[in-house]
Amino acid sequence: MRSNDENDELYDDGDSEELDEEFPLGDGTADAEATVSCPYCGEAVEITLDPGGGTHQDYVEDCEVCCQPWRVSVQYGLDGEAQVEVTALGE
Ligand SMILES: [Zn+2]
Repeated sequence: MRSNDENDELYDDGDSEELDEEFPLGDGTADAEATVSCPYCGEAVEITLDPGGGTHQDYVEDCEVCCQPWRVSVQYGLDGEAQVEVTALGE
């Protein structure tokens, strides 16, 4: 499951190891980042994903550029490809 060439500057050694067993995409084959367009400022922003978090994730993240809150929706396919949708959280 572990590769030798992992670079884990962003990897959190905390509790994510347990999740890997339930969700095999956590072994590094799944997309771990995505580029999205901010619904507020329109900038293309690269965000970090957490494949160990499950096949479907919804969370809130602030835009790095304009600091507005996004609702991020991540859906992993069986091939590990992430479909990421970002919508404005406001209103
Ligand atoms: Zn923005």
